[in-house]
Amino acid sequence: MKTIVIGGNFAGFTAALELKRKGNKDQDVMVIDKSADFLFIPSLIWVPFKRREVKDITIPKAAIFRKKGVEFLEAEALKVDPATQLVYTTKGNFKYDQLVVATGPKVKYDVAPGVAEHAHYIGTPAGAMKTRAALDELKKIPARLLLAPVKVQVVLELGMNFYSTLKNGAEKMTSEIKWIFIGLLPKHFWVTSELME
Ligand SMILES: Cc1cc2nc3c(=O)[nH]c(=O)nc-3n(C[C@H](O)[C@H](O)[C@H](O)COP(=O)(O)OP(=O)(O)OC[C@H]3O[C@@H](n4cnc5c(N)ncnc54)[C@H](O)[C@@H]3O)c2cc1C
Repeated sequence: MKTIVIGGNFAGFTAALELKRKGNKDQDVMVIDKSADFLFIPSLIWVPFKRREVKDITIPKAAIFRKKGVEFLEAEALKVDPATQLVYTTKGNFKYDQLVVATGPKVKYDVAPGVAEHAHYIGTPAGAMKTRAALDELKKIPARLLLAPVKVQVVLELGMNFYSTLKNGAEKMTSEIKWIFIGLLPKHFWVTSELME
């Protein structure tokens, strides 16, 4: 029995290790991921503020998978054909008996005009580094800051980081900051009232 897992971060990593741990002895597990590194995504929120570097929140996956008896292929999955039970990748085609797709979310950059051209998404290392560069630029000019939350917890963590970096950080921003939050924020949360003042 061969299981292919496409995507090997939180969901795929866990699925592969659990299949190997709880499955039968003849259970072969192969993980296909375009990235060689496991990325601890929640800590990306520190990267724009120089509190973490990307290397601090990534670890190579191959050695861990090898130790657990999981085959790892660094490649991009291009297509799945359920009829032939084949996964097409940038490094060849692979047959499976069972398939787990754990490729994570995709950002919808066309959600509103201007988002694709002007917004930065911190959910990827490249996006977090672009946000860092944009933040450095923001410190130089009077700015209006727009935060569009994916969920309340993320915007509060981000808001707190933006606030402390621009207002209280070593490199103080001299111009006025206007905070605009989109979405619902819990009134009882103390950060909210401080940021909204
Ligand atoms: C800034 C931020 C903060 C967050 N904070 C929290 C938090 O505090 N707590 C919490 O529970 N959740 C948090 N989340 C959400 C959490 O990170 C996600 O729910 C989680 O990463 C989803 O795991 P996943 O394995 O499904 O997808 P991902 O972690 O996105 O992994 C998908 C994997 O699939 C691979 N992949 C994608 N397409 C292909 C392809 N075609 N071929 C091969 N490989 C492919 C990618 O390289 C990646 O390794 C946060 C998210 C963000 C963006």
